[in-house]
Amino acid sequence: MANSYKYLFGPVPSRRLGRSLGVDLIPFKTCTMNCRFCQLGDSACALSERAEYVPMAEVLAELVQWNEFDGQADHITLAGSGEPTLHTGFGEVLRWIKNNTDIPSVLLSNGTLFHLPEVRAGAALADKVKVTLSAWDEASFQQIHRPAPGVTFKQLVEGERAFRQEFSGELSVEVFIVEGMNSAASDVEKIAALVETINPDRIDLNTAVRPPADSGVQAISPEQLAKLAKILGPKAEGVASFKKPSAPALEVTPEALLGLIQRHPATAGQLAKDYNAPLDSILKTLDALVADGRLCAEERDGETYYFHRA
Ligand code: SF4
Repeated sequence: MANSYKYLFGPVPSRRLGRSLGVDLIPFKTCTMNCRFCQLGDSACALSERAEYVPMAEVLAELVQWNEFDGQADHITLAGSGEPTLHTGFGEVLRWIKNNTDIPSVLLSNGTLFHLPEVRAGAALADKVKVTLSAWDEASFQQIHRPAPGVTFKQLVEGERAFRQEFSGELSVEVFIVEGMNSAASDVEKIAALVETINPDRIDLNTAVRPPADSGVQAISPEQLAKLAKILGPKAEGVASFKKPSAPALEVTPEALLGLIQRHPATAGQLAKDYNAPLDSILKTLDALVADGRLCAEERDGETYYFHRA
């Protein structure tokens, strides 16, 4: 991406989505939950009030500019620094993508606001939607996700079920496994029974392979993940990038790395794999960004992770 944008980032290489342009409609870590495994860090408080968190006119102006001067991506994805459906204009962005490009749109949401008919109507404008279901009752939901006051597990499940009834595009459910919280086979059996009632097209099984907010949160092993995927049935696939195959090579500019790391802290090795680029050239760019004060490097679990410096 030649131009520098405030609300667009990437395209980010993705195994499933190819080159995915990100649209970030939410100020950093503004979310209806404060998940123990969140890579964005710990938030002071979760909230559920919907608003125009960033100016819609500026987001659409950036999309117009990107479409005119670049326009190359396999998907355009609403994701990034928090929960995109908190923005009252997220449906308008999806409508713009549909009306002005041939690129399929993707909404990555935690599903907590899908009990609201206006949120479901906006989400239905996406071609692909991914929601979350990693708990089986209110207590496990509170423990894993630490939601905002008033955000309940019942609303989450009923909202996701209602959306499936109304949405004919591709719906996937992400089940995020945290060691010792929802990693027992009996926990996953209860989650599987609920996921079945939603009837998604796909189930993505994930775990905390990148550094979470809570350093006590542990990922499960690839072998455990494979066993749990069997409980969730044939639609389930482990998507944690233990050894993710490389996506096609993309240009790795400092802005591209900054845009990605702002939303997902990463090691140089992970970035080299993501971008299918030589490790030494990634390290050189990261070192320059650290020297500039735009990134900081921190040791986690014996590896050096790069974080955005706010
Ligand atoms: S993991 Fe996603 S849903 Fe959970 S707090 Fe972070 S941004 Fe919000």
